[in-house]
Amino acid sequence: MAQHDHDEHGSELSETQLRVRALETVLTEKGYIDPAALDLIIQAYETKIGPHTGARVVAKAWHDPAFKRALLDDGSKAVRALGHESRVGDHLVAVENTPARHNIVVCTLCSCYPWDVLGLPPVWYKSAPYRSRAVKDPRGVLADFGVKLPASTEIRVWDSTAETRFLVLPMRPSGTEGWSEERLAQLVTRDAMIGTGLPKPPEEVA
Ligand code: FE
Repeated sequence: MAQHDHDEHGSELSETQLRVRALETVLTEKGYIDPAALDLIIQAYETKIGPHTGARVVAKAWHDPAFKRALLDDGSKAVRALGHESRVGDHLVAVENTPARHNIVVCTLCSCYPWDVLGLPPVWYKSAPYRSRAVKDPRGVLADFGVKLPASTEIRVWDSTAETRFLVLPMRPSGTEGWSEERLAQLVTRDAMIGTGLPKPPEEVA
């Protein structure tokens, strides 16, 4: 314990934190959950599993046409083949951006998100304004994120559920011919895989 660590007074916890703690205590006492296992899962999502996982998937799809076909055909199966086992038993669907169509992902009901490839969702993804506006005004949402697409590009909104999660396969930036998968992966941002962003321009990556 570091010296500056202070005691956890109830007053320092938010209402939600208190409720989560109470719930965890009850579930542990009743033997429904193992706190050590819970800690491992949380730790995995905080440190091991994150957008870098999805970035590797996207980079591989850019680099390997056979993998891209497999990914678009069955996202869960293709991602599993890379050794990323889904922990929640949901189905991952990869949707491909093209000059004609841009895909954007939302969960209008709550916050369903492809945790296994993107890690923990950003706060805005769970916010009511994003969840409602992404459907009503996707072009406006994209503008807020600094993304301007040609008027001729159709914007398709995908509503996630507990069973089906979506991963956007962004367009590979031009000027990246001959790049390795590792280098390509550096261009792939979390937002590009949600559809609220675009990959980084090649000149931003050494
Ligand atoms: Fe949800």
